[in-house]
Amino acid sequence: MSLLTDILKHNQNFVKSREYEAYRTTKFPEKKMVVVSCMDTRLTELLPKAMNLANGDAKIVKTAGAVITHPFGSVMRSILVAIYELNAREVLIIGHHDCGMTGLKSENIIDKAKARGIKDEALVNVDVDIPLWLSGFSSVEESVQNSVDVVRNHPLLPEGIPVHGLVVDPSTGELEVLIDGYLSM
Ligand SMILES: [Zn+2]
Repeated sequence: MSLLTDILKHNQNFVKSREYEAYRTTKFPEKKMVVVSCMDTRLTELLPKAMNLANGDAKIVKTAGAVITHPFGSVMRSILVAIYELNAREVLIIGHHDCGMTGLKSENIIDKAKARGIKDEALVNVDVDIPLWLSGFSSVEESVQNSVDVVRNHPLLPEGIPVHGLVVDPSTGELEVLIDGYLSM
């Protein structure tokens, strides 16, 4: 059975047995917060549980490394939509230890892409420095600080929104506060 068939089979039963009823909520985050975190599989359930977040409590934006690369990219846009349209009042950027983006070298990805048939021409782009774009960060603490700065200094961020920076341990769920957003409001 293919992955998709498997998913759809489960889905039919899920809907039929009304399992969704336990998850009913609204699109507005109950706890008025937006979280930016990493796509790491260890965090899928662990992070919300470790933060006491139930379905409906928070807007959660996932991206490799919890990195906000560009002030006018889709992650920053998501944060602004969460604030202006969905009543989020606080922002939490949560990186994690042992992240795949720590020390990620773009050369490795580029070599693998070439081995899978990607041509040299595809690796040159006038708008984007592809090797830089595919690179990770040297330290998660530095990366979280950078992302917090991008949000905090954004020209479209309204006054009075605390922007916190944290790091989570992907095995225990323990959170460490790097930047307490209340202190710099
Ligand atoms: Zn990660």
